Amino acid sequence: MNVLYVIYKYFDIKAGNIPKTPITVIFGAKAAKAYTIAKDIIHLILCLSKFIEADKDVSPYLKVVMVENYNVTLAEKLIPACDISEQISLASKEASGTGNMKFMLNSAVTLGTIDGANVEIAQLVGKDNIYTFGASSDEVIAHYKNEDYKSKKIYEEDEDIKKCVDFIISDELKQYGDEENLTRLYNELVNKDWFMTLLDLKEYIRVKEQAFADYEDRKAWGRKMLINTAMAGFFSSDRTIRQYNTDIWKL
Ligand SMILES: *Cc1c(COP(=O)(O)O)cnc(C)c1O
Repeated sequence: MNVLYVIYKYFDIKAGNIPKTPITVIFGAKAAKAYTIAKDIIHLILCLSKFIEADKDVSPYLKVVMVENYNVTLAEKLIPACDISEQISLASKEASGTGNMKFMLNSAVTLGTIDGANVEIAQLVGKDNIYTFGASSDEVIAHYKNEDYKSKKIYEEDEDIKKCVDFIISDELKQYGDEENLTRLYNELVNKDWFMTLLDLKEYIRVKEQAFADYEDRKAWGRKMLINTAMAGFFSSDRTIRQYNTDIWKL
């Protein structure tokens, strides 16, 4: 979803909408060797990174970084430097998440789905200090149960989404990557999309644009940051372990 946003933003900047503050999108992730689609997503990120770097209209305003071998040492550098913490798992798919807590403690403002510990973060900081979007867990679970999510329908009915997805298999991008990887990912998104990437994409783009606009009010943004750090104490391991003991272990 984030990489599709990057494509959206590329077109937006290309059309002359220059961001007030340059945007750097950093992906910190790994994929298991056999997880083909995850590998294809990383491949797309790398292609896009090179493609945008080479475009002199866009590269001053948009940069894409895929961190190699993301690990704790790198996380210690990246997390304190981050302004917006993206926790965008499809609702019902993330049990908790701990990365979100690390970003919050370090003053990043969360942009996320109502999933895992994002729910607790939202309760702690209040709606003015977090950006949430997307279908609820119940809605997602109902889509799986009723088998009524059809990514192709969204793809065919929404011009903006179609444009972003089609770009994956464009001649421009193929110059930077492997046709097989790009085509497989395109087909996955249009014909299957098990993780319902397209379901929340439109709202994600809208809410993310709102976060970027709000960022320009530095004082108001600073207040959001401060509230996030101030409320992060709830995730203290002392409190967590005490609660586990009271509720579950009863030692
Ligand atoms: C915290 C952390 C994770 C786990 O992140 P989640 O958001 O809980 O999935 C994975 N890798 C590194 C390097 C981390 O620091």
